Amino acid sequence: MRIIIFGPPGAGKGTQAELISSHYGIPHLSTGEIFRSAIKDDTTLGKKIKSKMDSGELVPDRIVVELIAEELEDPKYSGGYILDGFPRTLPQAKAFSELLNSRGLGLDAFLVLDVPEEELIRRILNRREGRSDDTKQAVKNRLSIYIKETAPVFGFYRDRGLVHKIDGVGSIEEIFDRIKSSLA
Ligand code: AMP
Repeated sequence: MRIIIFGPPGAGKGTQAELISSHYGIPHLSTGEIFRSAIKDDTTLGKKIKSKMDSGELVPDRIVVELIAEELEDPKYSGGYILDGFPRTLPQAKAFSELLNSRGLGLDAFLVLDVPEEELIRRILNRREGRSDDTKQAVKNRLSIYIKETAPVFGFYRDRGLVHKIDGVGSIEEIFDRIKSSLA
């Protein structure tokens, strides 16, 4: 099963992706996590993207698409995966679609977590995981980038009939139950 989990920052994508990963036995692939660990380990990739990530901006499409294409070569993804944080722009969505086509594969579902904006800001500022992009200014920046650059990705998958809209307000378990029913 190949699934994308989508939604604004603070919607709970990471948490639900973890639950999906263990329930369906598919690996969780988060581009944000890969970037954070590259920065922590001070790799060449980490050095290149640190300032963008800290200010809440997007990493350039070329870097992200290359990273995904390379990562998905790993045989552990051959039985499917849950993608979290990718694709985040229309060019990324198109590149990913071409990548799947070239391998004769398709996408099973595009899950969208629906959460009102006031709730998002409250959640992010409360989460305080020590993420360097969880400051008020960076959060505002991430939300406006989401609206401008990321939201159009929704239309791409809606046109392909893959969208599953999930109400993202409630307890973690309630939201996960909605996801399971929607995928069933
Ligand atoms: P996330 O953990 O998904 O919220 O991602 C954190 C940050 O990593 C984002 O604000 C971007 O700077 C960067 N990032 C993660 N995924 C992508 C992507 N698909 N395209 C561009 N930048 C990304």
